[in-house]
This record gives sequence, structure tokens and C-alpha cells, in this order.
Amino acid sequence: MTQSWSLFCSKCDRTESAAGLPSVCPDCGSPWLVRYAKLPDPSAKAALAARPWTMWRYREWLPLADGEEPVTLGEGMTPLLRWPPLEKALKLKTVWIKDEGKNPTGSFKARGLAAAVTAAVRGGARVFTIPTAGNAGVALSAYARRAGIPVHVFAPATTPATILEQIRVFGATLNLLDGHIGDCGKAAREFAAQHGAFDVSTLREPYRIEGKKTMGLELAEQLGWALPDVVIYPAGGGTGLIGMWKAFNELRTAGWITDRSPRFYAVQSTGCAPVVKAFDAGAEQTEPWPDPATVAAGLRVPGPLGGRLMLRALRESGGGALAVSDDDLVRAARTLAEQGMDASPEGGAAVAALEALVARGEVRPADRVVVFNTGAGWLYR
Ligand SMILES: *Cc1c(COP(=O)(O)O)cnc(C)c1O
Repeated sequence: MTQSWSLFCSKCDRTESAAGLPSVCPDCGSPWLVRYAKLPDPSAKAALAARPWTMWRYREWLPLADGEEPVTLGEGMTPLLRWPPLEKALKLKTVWIKDEGKNPTGSFKARGLAAAVTAAVRGGARVFTIPTAGNAGVALSAYARRAGIPVHVFAPATTPATILEQIRVFGATLNLLDGHIGDCGKAAREFAAQHGAFDVSTLREPYRIEGKKTMGLELAEQLGWALPDVVIYPAGGGTGLIGMWKAFNELRTAGWITDRSPRFYAVQSTGCAPVVKAFDAGAEQTEPWPDPATVAAGLRVPGPLGGRLMLRALRESGGGALAVSDDDLVRAARTLAEQGMDASPEGGAAVAALEALVARGEVRPADRVVVFNTGAGWLYR
């Protein structure tokens, strides 16, 4: 199978072919990013209509060889919903919620892991391991099961019970640890070294981000190849944010869009806000957050490997970063449920952040805003 992409280091610019099972840049330890030899011409827009209604409709933008079939459960193409209750309450003209809770396994982690598992199967992986705050473990377990490959998940013992139950449903071996996702990451790396397992941690392989990139491609298609003014995103490891930033850059390079990038806002919990702290300090890299604590499990990432890339995307786009309290994010998620959407606490955080940004005057009435609900609420019960 011919592969039409290569890898380049996000920090030192080393480049490499994309054979086998790539991890991080051997020179500097930073994440690889994918560079495509040729992106499709805008005339290919018309052909999309006949494509399957999953994220693989964008196959030329994804790490898929000619004729290769992906490992799929039908991920992507989630609803982009106008949300009048928020428009009214905040006096904004246009607010959409992108409801990623509608993905297989109940969160947008499905997109990243569909892409990563597809690439790793091609690369020859025989066992998977992953550290997770919860939803990535569910998604990997499902996609690996689909591919017939065993999985060892490392998760904090405090992970919501329903999420742990889902990991067991898909037959993964579940290891619970006292500690946070950083501690689980160490355990997964040791397991990988001892047992020859492939570690699919956030940004320790280059393809989860390509799967998450489809959120950006999809947003653009859903808006008729236009972009919103503001994107509000609850950020943990940062793959979604970095992925959308990459998507919009690639779309512009290929001539599919002309709009400038939306202002990206990263939302975290006041109990774990390394990106907000680094953004406010004008720093280029995040520093580990001591004793991370939040009910929004996906935001409990004290030392994201993609910190540098997130900060770059926020600054380049003219956006920002802000933290909301657990009380506020839980309240906002409950309000969304009262309006008909069973949102995750992380989705609640994004709504609470929009309220704060409007109050500060950073989001203005005419801004067209997309808020991400990144997962379903039922997973947290
Ligand atoms: C993982 C996760 C996040 C954080 O996502 P990143 O793209 O890694 O920043 C947010 N919300 C939910 C529900 C998650 O599972």
C-alpha cells in the first residue's frame, strides 16, 4: 500500500517516513505531526456528497493508504445544533453546540482512536496499552476489539463507574491506579516496554490527532466551507484543539476555505488548569499542575505533552484560555440537560466559559460561536 504522507517534529522540524509504529521524535521527544504530500483540490468538494456519513468521508486528509479500509464504528458527522436558549440568555446572535456525545462510545475520543487503531493495525501492533482519564480507554477498548487486538488500560481509581464498566464491556484488561493520568502514563509506558505493547497515549503517536482533526473538517463542511468566529473547547491533552487548528490550516493551504481561523478558547477546571496558567504567564510550555482535581475527568491532565502546540494554536488564533469552577461546570451541564442535551461535565465547562467570556466582553453579540460538548453525560453516572 502506498502511503502519501510523512512525519515532521512539532518542535525541531526533523522529518521521517511514516513506516511502522511511530512514537515521538527521537531527537527531542516532542510529538510528530503528519504532513500530506498532496491535499485534494477544491474541485473534490462535490464528490463528498456521495461519500459515507462518517469521518472517513475525508479520507484524503487522513492517514489511510490507497484502497485501505479503516477500523470503524461509524464515528464522526455529529450534529451541529443551533442552541436558542444560550443565544437568548447571553444575547448572542448565533450559538451552535457541536454534540460529540453522539459518537460511538459516547465521546469524541472515538475519532482519534479510530484513526490510531487503523494506523497501528497497518503498522503491525499486536497488543495496545493506554493511560486514560476514562473516555479514551472506552474508545480504544471498542476499536481494538473491532480489530481483534487485546488492550491493557491504565486508569485512575477515581474514574466514573459507568466509564470503567464500559471499558470492561469491551473486554479490555483494566488496571486501576491511585493517582492521575500522568501516573497512569508511566505505568502504561512500563507495560509497553515489558510486553511489547503499542502505547496510544495522547500525542505519543501521531494519528489520534489526525482523527480529531476531522472535527474541524466537519465543522467547515457543515457551515458550507465557512468558519465560525469563536470555538470554545474543553481542553485536557489538547488533541482536539491542535487537530482543529491543523484542519483549518490544511483547508486554507489546499484552497478549500478563505476564512481566517476562529479564535480558539481552551477551557479548563480551576482544579487543573496548566494551560490557563501558562497562557496567562505568556509561557511557551505548560508546567505540571500539582494535585489535579476536577469532576470533569477529561480535563484532569496536569502535564499535557501537547502544551506547547495548544498555546501556539490559542495565540495564533487570537483566542485565549480560561478556567471555570467545578460548581459552575456542573451547573451548566445540568442546565443543558434541562434544555434537552445530556452533556458531559466537560461540555458544561465550555458553556460556563462562554458565559464568562460574554460577561468579560471577549465574546460579542455578533460573534458566531461554536461550543463543544465533547461527551455524553450518562458516562459520568
Ligand atoms: C478527553 C476529553 C476531553 C479533553 O480532550 P483533549 O482533546 O484531549 O483536550 C474533553 N472532554 C471529554 C469528554 C474527554 O473525554
